[in-house]
Amino acid sequence: CPPPMGENPGVAALADYPQIAAGKVRQLHAVDDEHLLLVASDRISAFDHVLSTPIPDKGRVLTAMSVFWFGLLGDVVANHLVAWDDPRIPAEVRGRALLVRRLEMLPVECVARGYLTGSGLADYRATGAVCGVELPAGLTESSRLPEPIFTPATKAELGQHDENVSFDAVAAEVGQQRAEQLREVTLEVYGRAAEHAESRGVILADTKFEFGVAPDGSLVIGDEVLTPDSSRFWPADAYEPGRVQESFDKQFVRDWLTSDASGWDRASDTPPPPLPDDIVAATRSRYVEAYERITGLDLADWPTGGA
Ligand code: ATP
Ligand code: MG
Repeated sequence: CPPPMGENPGVAALADYPQIAAGKVRQLHAVDDEHLLLVASDRISAFDHVLSTPIPDKGRVLTAMSVFWFGLLGDVVANHLVAWDDPRIPAEVRGRALLVRRLEMLPVECVARGYLTGSGLADYRATGAVCGVELPAGLTESSRLPEPIFTPATKAELGQHDENVSFDAVAAEVGQQRAEQLREVTLEVYGRAAEHAESRGVILADTKFEFGVAPDGSLVIGDEVLTPDSSRFWPADAYEPGRVQESFDKQFVRDWLTSDASGWDRASDTPPPPLPDDIVAATRSRYVEAYERITGLDLADWPTGGA
């Protein structure tokens, strides 16, 4: 039975906090009735597989990045962050865990797109629209959109892809007013973040937010925000519409997995092989570089764990 928060500072262990959910790369633990611990692992996914080789410091980078953005966006939207370095955060996950307010999460993946790629491009090619938002003719892979659009999705069953849905489908789920608020806030946060990224030489092509409702009914942004796992970041100096852009973070992993060297057949059902050390090191550098480039901060200054 865990001690109430504030007692026995410094001795919290992850085992004190019951795990209430586990995603592909993160875990969610209950701290008390009002607080959760959101723990990011070093696991990485590619081509819909979680790889068996972790990327050291990836969890720290994603956690530090979320905290940076929560701070930068504080005047645009309330967020769930309570603490990122605090005795209630167990030493073993220090630096890659956030203490957050427990929210009633809304069942909508709130996606904003400023550029056309991935499932957005596929929908556009099939229908001329994305999530019911009509787009002009003649757009191509990675085209910049005339203006950013809200393209919500619903969470699919485990192992399935999220499914793009129309604004009306969101309104049917959460109510017209809440849906309008989600669209407005999503686009506002995206715009602010894209502006900052651009000033650092990075294109924020698209991103996904999850919002929740606080006990007083107010809208709060939850989950991780504006990380490489929830967003597409492209180096601005290499941007060229008409082709798939290099992803900042996973390019080495993807290139190696699809090379002869890996011996892996992407079309097969077999899981990808372990990553060689040089690919792990190069990928880790990419994550650190993304963090430092976007935030202007030094990862060495971010807390690090140890059991
Ligand atoms: P995956 O991302 O691997 O597809 P997932 O989204 O189910 O799976 P994670 O992203 O690892 O899993 O887990 C985060 C979970 O925590 C999400 O379900 C998210 O909605 C939830 N969550 C995030 N912040 C809060 C919060 N403040 N209160 C309650 N739940 C939250
Ligand atoms: Mg998730």
